[in-house]
Formats: sequence, C-alpha cells, structure tokens
Amino acid sequence: MNKDVTRVEGIHYATGRPVRFNIRGGIIQAVEPLDGVEPLDGIQAVEHAGEDTGGRGGDHDGLPLVAPGLVDLQVNGFMGTDLNGPGLTAEQVDTMSLALLRHGVTRFCPTLVTGPGERVLAALCALSEAAGGRGPASGAMAGIHMEGPFISPEVGPRGAHPLKHCRMPDISLLHRWMEASGGRIRIVTLAPELPGSIPFIRECVSLGIIAAIGHTGATGAEIRAAAEAGATLSTHLGNGSHSMLPRHPNYIWAQLAEDELHATMIADGFHLDDAVLKVFFRAKGEKAILVSDSMSHAGLPPGTYDSPIAGRVCLTPEGLLHMEGNPLMLAGSASALLDGVRKMASIVGFVQAWDAGSARPAGLLDPSGVHGLHPGAPADLVLLEPGPDKMKIRSVYRAGFKEVP
Ligand SMILES: [Zn+2]
Repeated sequence: MNKDVTRVEGIHYATGRPVRFNIRGGIIQAVEPLDGVEPLDGIQAVEHAGEDTGGRGGDHDGLPLVAPGLVDLQVNGFMGTDLNGPGLTAEQVDTMSLALLRHGVTRFCPTLVTGPGERVLAALCALSEAAGGRGPASGAMAGIHMEGPFISPEVGPRGAHPLKHCRMPDISLLHRWMEASGGRIRIVTLAPELPGSIPFIRECVSLGIIAAIGHTGATGAEIRAAAEAGATLSTHLGNGSHSMLPRHPNYIWAQLAEDELHATMIADGFHLDDAVLKVFFRAKGEKAILVSDSMSHAGLPPGTYDSPIAGRVCLTPEGLLHMEGNPLMLAGSASALLDGVRKMASIVGFVQAWDAGSARPAGLLDPSGVHGLHPGAPADLVLLEPGPDKMKIRSVYRAGFKEVP
C-alpha cells in the first residue's frame, strides 16, 4: 500500500455509487467501486442518498456524498472582506479564501470592478502577492476577473458601477494589469458596443484571457461580432441590464442564441426569477454556469453598509442587497455560491446545479484539463452530509489535502 495515496470514500454525487477515490500528487488517480457496498442506481438515488432507500441504504449509512469542489468565477468579496475596498492586503485575500473554502469553494476568481485606476492596480498587486504566497489564497485563486471599467455608461447596463470611472477599452491598460498581477488576469468583462472592443477582445484571446460580455446594451450584431472575435462568456446574463427592454430583439435573446457563449447566472433568488433561471439553463445547456457575484456583505447580518462600489447599500433580512433608497437596484449578491447551487437544485435538480457551480466553470477556465470526479482531475472534493439537507458540508479537500474542518 502506497503511503503517498490518500483515500476518500463516499457516494458519488452523480452516479449514486459508493466509491473510493485514490488521490496522489493532488490529482484523482482512480475511482473504484467500494467492495461489499451495493451501488445505488442513477441520479434519483442520489437525491435520496442517506434517506430511506427502501432497505438498500444500510451498507452506505454514514458515507458522505462526494462532489467536485465549487469554482466561483465572480467573487467581489465575502464574509467582511471587500476586494474593491481601499488598502486591500494579501492577508485579507487569504482570510477570504479560507472563508470560501469553508463554503465549498475550492477555486475562485477574485473580481475587481470599475473603480479608480490606482486602487485597481494596488488591488492587483495584493491579489498577486496572495496568489504567490503560502496562505489559502495561493491554491485557491484561479485567476483574476476584471469586471469593468470597459462597460456601458448607461443607467441600467452600468448597474452599480460608478460612471466616472467607466472608460473605453484600452489594450495598454490591460497590459498594465497583467504586469501588476504577474500575468494573473483570466477574465475581462466588457461591453462589446464600445469603440475598440473588437481589437481588445482579440488581444484578450491572444493572451489566454476569457473575454466576457456584460454590463452591455449591445445590439445583436455587436454581440455576434464579439463572439466571432473570440468572446466566450456572458457575465451574469440578465443582470446589469435595462429594467425595460424591447421584447425582441434585445441583447438577452442575442446572447442566449449565441452558442459560442457560456453564460454565468446569479441564482440568489433576487437577481433572476426562477422561470428565467430555468429557461436560461435550458438554452445554454452545458454552458450554463452559476456564480455568486458575492460582496463583502455575504454572510453578514442585515443592516445598512457603506460600499466603495455602490455607496450606501442595504442588506435585508431575506438576503437582498440593494442600493439605499432603491430596492429595485441590486448592489451585488450577499449569497454564497453554495446558496445558488441549492436554489438551482430546486429548479433543475441537484446534479445539474452542482455541475454548473463546479466542473463547468473549471472547464471554462481550463478547457484542455480534466474536471469533476474523473481520474486526472484535481482532487478538489466537497464531502456533503447525506440526507435531506445534502448541502451541509462535512469536509473539503483541495488538491488532495483536507482543508476543512
Ligand atoms: Zn456586474
């Protein structure tokens, strides 16, 4: 028996089979059936794993459900840490990474929004320091998401981003960001109707950066042109939009119809209606992805807070985060990705929802890699309590190491 091998046993989240994961070097080496334990059949069984399974459940009583680690492509902050606040430090990024890990997020994209150029560059340096350090952020950061400042200045599409810092796509600024971050920019969200956006998207592609469409009022033709130039993602589709739109055509239909585009969605119960989530998921299929878009207020008690992005914001007891005086103007999300997966599971089922928060975003970031619970994939595992509340986390492994509890 090789001492370097870590073994994790549990019920496979998608197949319902009791399995053993053999992990070495941070990678899943093999997934083998557990001897003497009768497998459950199919997804329906997973939905009931640990509950009364008609007499078949006895052999795997107590085994956790094992699912791939969550991957969040859009994290502005969490549990009191604000990545867009002044004076961000690498220690804060580490603190936040640990809090995310406890919520099942094994990899994430720290997200910087439209703001003063100097502060953005300083934040990039802090993120880069954290990523290159020895703390929890070093294994967790999957690259930085720049959401803005190349976004629509219009009310609606601009969302809560400050107008005075919005600007036109600027390739030289992209290069400065890359320099400040040690080449760690992975996603740039921009509005493709802005002058210069097409060469900017091409530059992103040549640097291995995902160009994402968001905070936009683009026409269908402009969205098509962006996809042809290499954009592969719609950022929080259906949000950062006008409150009133022509029924058709409009930029939501255009992005739904563009098969090259993945789409991220915020399933916090406020940003998108259940029917919209369901239809977006069906339209995008395997390219539907969940993000949290969480702010520092995620996990904090209800109240009024000062936000460097949106000014005064209110967090209601129900978890709605809105701009003070305007409950219709959302100011980001106060939910964790796990909450979004739970919400989405109630609409499209557990496996679909979990994949949209884990293997799919991992696949977007690394299309040639292996993801999920397959041999060759990183051993990023979330072990969930079996039973009705299967979103309760028992433990979390990242790169084969047990990080939580
Ligand atoms: Zn946004």
